[in-house]
Amino acid sequence: MGMTERLDKYLSTRCSLTRSQARDAVRKGGSAVNGRPVRDPGTQIDPEKDAVTLHGNPVGGGAFSYLMLHKPAGYVSSTEDAGPTVLDLVPPELRRRGQFPAGRLDKDTEGFVLITDDGAFAHRILAPRSHLPKTYYAELDGPVGPEDVRAFAGGMALGENRLHPAELIVLEPGDRVEVVLTQGLYHQIKRMFAARGRKVLYLKRTKIGGLALDPELPKGGCRALTPEELELLRGGK
Ligand code: URA
Repeated sequence: MGMTERLDKYLSTRCSLTRSQARDAVRKGGSAVNGRPVRDPGTQIDPEKDAVTLHGNPVGGGAFSYLMLHKPAGYVSSTEDAGPTVLDLVPPELRRRGQFPAGRLDKDTEGFVLITDDGAFAHRILAPRSHLPKTYYAELDGPVGPEDVRAFAGGMALGENRLHPAELIVLEPGDRVEVVLTQGLYHQIKRMFAARGRKVLYLKRTKIGGLALDPELPKGGCRALTPEELELLRGGK
């Protein structure tokens, strides 16, 4: 159990407001705790557990940060590289020491990257045992069909690995697909299609577990997860 503190004090230190500005903002309904509007500036909050917003923006958001990034091609999913990394796309007000991408996309892959400084949470998202599905949209160099769907579903052999069953959904016109994986081996989707004689021309991660990439988030955009979104991920599948 962490230490609690008054909401107005918390807001004033985190947002460089005077105590009376913070109190006013709360009284006017500008603040919410765990999604519920709170008008009493004396409300006790636990900075490690409670998600506090001011005018809709997360404030501190507890001890840990959880961000949704819409990765463009050309960025590396690591914390350090000679070239630009996904962390370079985190806006200054959302940066925290210790942030890293929870799961890697190839440099040329686009889409949903989760950035956090919560190692235990990332482990749960990534651990093969958690079987948290990741959904991808891909464009191929030619059509695939029912045999490919069966091969993916049967758990393909890839090098030394026998893969988990994967879902392949063929969209119109046959060279556009959705793939749902519960593991994430290096270049996995590209290698799975290569094993079926197809080349991936474009790849985008659209979903992690039950949480879809926000269609309003532009390429290169990054924002904090809402408490509801975080709950969706914590809830598992
Ligand atoms: N599979 C790939 O081949 N590349 C990615 O970036 C993700 C999954």
